[in-house]
Amino acid sequence: MAASKPSADASSNIPDYEYAEVNTKPFHIGSFRNEWLKRLKPGDFSFQLEDEETFDANFARELRVDAETMAEIKSICSLDSLRCHPEDQQPDTNVVPDDPTLKTLIQRKKRQDYRATLKTPKNRHDLFTDELERAAIGKNPETVTNMIAEGELLLTVNVYYPPVVEKFQYVRPHMTLLMTGSHSLAELRDAICCVSDLQVCGEFSNTPDIAPDFISKDHFKSAFFFFEGIFYNDMRYPECQDISMTTIEWAKTHNFPTFSQAKMEDTRFADLKVKVGFPYLYCHQGDCEHLVIITDIRLMHTSDCLDKRLYPLLTHKHRVLTKKCAVCHVYIGRWFTTNDQFAPSNPCLFCDKCFRLLHYDAQGKKLGDFLAYPYVDRGAFN
Ligand SMILES: [Zn+2]
Ligand SMILES: [Zn+2]
Repeated sequence: MAASKPSADASSNIPDYEYAEVNTKPFHIGSFRNEWLKRLKPGDFSFQLEDEETFDANFARELRVDAETMAEIKSICSLDSLRCHPEDQQPDTNVVPDDPTLKTLIQRKKRQDYRATLKTPKNRHDLFTDELERAAIGKNPETVTNMIAEGELLLTVNVYYPPVVEKFQYVRPHMTLLMTGSHSLAELRDAICCVSDLQVCGEFSNTPDIAPDFISKDHFKSAFFFFEGIFYNDMRYPECQDISMTTIEWAKTHNFPTFSQAKMEDTRFADLKVKVGFPYLYCHQGDCEHLVIITDIRLMHTSDCLDKRLYPLLTHKHRVLTKKCAVCHVYIGRWFTTNDQFAPSNPCLFCDKCFRLLHYDAQGKKLGDFLAYPYVDRGAFN
């Protein structure tokens, strides 16, 4: 169980700004949900769609208008009033009419005209975004067991990458994940893909085939999240160590406020006390540090993806350029070598195929004298 307990004072769990437009004061996520559920009618967060008649009646009551005004509003706001083609004609929705009057269509036409001037109609970033969207948008599961429960929380979590790229001053590479209030922090950890988990340390020129057995993720399993004075350690495996202990002990001897510990696998988001918009920490592989910012917490809506199995749901992923093999310039680099008489530079990057063709004979015997280190590209997760 998380150490943070819901506060007795309910109003303290209603988010309020600490710094305007930046971050809120800390509040307990599960209690915040309860505050909403107390105030809303079950119909407000139900995933069942109302039939049209009930919807109209409720709508009219809320706007305090009579049936006649309601009918008028309906006709003025109907989709038919936006028609820009004859009624008996079915338009091609991909073609914007020549002189549109609707602002949205004017914008769309501008974009279409601009796209037409490009060599490739869509860049790979757009294609990738489309792909992410298609994977989840409006998806409902076939069976009830995979359906998200009504009144569940939806959190938007941004995970930032360590600032080691020069470009970092212009862009903040990150991934965005949608998580539910029932997800544990361990599930967030498993959804974060970081290249340092795939790193292989060591020199493998004599035994290139066993390099995959030394992937960091399988050897160094400890990690923690840090939220509001509490370290949430990953203790799922016997090899896991409480790597927050050093910091806690150090803080004790330096007159810092005392920090406490909990297990990330036992802590659900709903158990956490956090500030929305505030940077927290995820640390793994000893010193690979990521900022984690919860940017939004709200109740699930019927138009959200309601299939449990698709969460944690990736909605944004920063793409990075990949480093290609120095020989074929086609495949992503997998090895770099030093002191290598076959290489055009020192160090030199090779894809697996070129590396093996150049450095080993048909029997797999090492040719010449060189050192070889596995290389994992940042773009490995693109
Ligand atoms: Zn990392
Ligand atoms: Zn190659």
